[in-house]
Amino acid sequence: MSGPAQRRPVALVTGGSRGIGRAVVNRLAEDGYDVAFVYRSNTDAALAVVDEASDKGANVVSRKLDVTDFDQVQEFVQHVERNVGSIAAVVNSAGITKDSPLVVMDNQDWHDVIEVNLTGLYNIARSVVRGFMRRRAGSLVTVSSVAGIHGNFAQTNYSASKAGMIGFTKSFAKEIGRYGARANVVAPGLVNTDMSSVLTAERTEKILAGITLGRSGTAEEVAELVVFLASDRSSYITGQVFQIDGGVTL
Ligand code: NAD
Repeated sequence: MSGPAQRRPVALVTGGSRGIGRAVVNRLAEDGYDVAFVYRSNTDAALAVVDEASDKGANVVSRKLDVTDFDQVQEFVQHVERNVGSIAAVVNSAGITKDSPLVVMDNQDWHDVIEVNLTGLYNIARSVVRGFMRRRAGSLVTVSSVAGIHGNFAQTNYSASKAGMIGFTKSFAKEIGRYGARANVVAPGLVNTDMSSVLTAERTEKILAGITLGRSGTAEEVAELVVFLASDRSSYITGQVFQIDGGVTL
């Protein structure tokens, strides 16, 4: 006689409608997770991701919301915990760029990038931390960038937000470690997504010249590392930053 069906663990992903977040949703589904994800605007793209991941056997829910709005994020986290299950893993992949050299930077572009990339991480982590502590389990993986480690031309706002995510995660890891919960950072270099497609051919060529492997990465390659860190397979790793960049030399 077979025992009771094993419940699938639940993962929450921000920015799941495209790019790295989309690849993460699919990889989590393949790994046996049920997945809840949020996205900013494109509902058709989100529904396509729901279909893809559902085909892999996962229960998938999505919600259009703005990660900068704490109440919306908190309400969705509560909705997922009530209707899908306790959140075992969180992947924070939502992010934006608004590049320009500081000398001509629009003040609003500074605030927008900090709000989405850094305050968005605060909102999601603040909404799940109590559950992590209560259940004495949980793994948060946040997607930063090599720009947050090395800096990048015309990206003072983005680099500051991405470096802030690293400091946030290291502190968060220290707070939750005694509860058996973990937090880590993945810092990608150039990855083939809609975000990087806005770079000029000249800029892309310059970046590629500095990459040891001589090519950009794929969202699937990044997702592989993210899902490893989200899962119990990385149970003794916390507070760390992992560059996944094909060997960038800056
Ligand atoms: P993308 O632009 O393809 O996808 C971004 C996702 O974030 C989308 O699903 C979008 O809906 C969501 N999002 C944006 N603003 C949001 C908001 N306010 N509320 C809710 N969702 C929001 O980007 P990507 O290339 O997949 O990047 C994912 C992450 O990886 C980002 O944090 C980015 O900074 C980081 N990253 C990307 C690269 C790269 O080369 N593509 C390199 C390093 C780091």
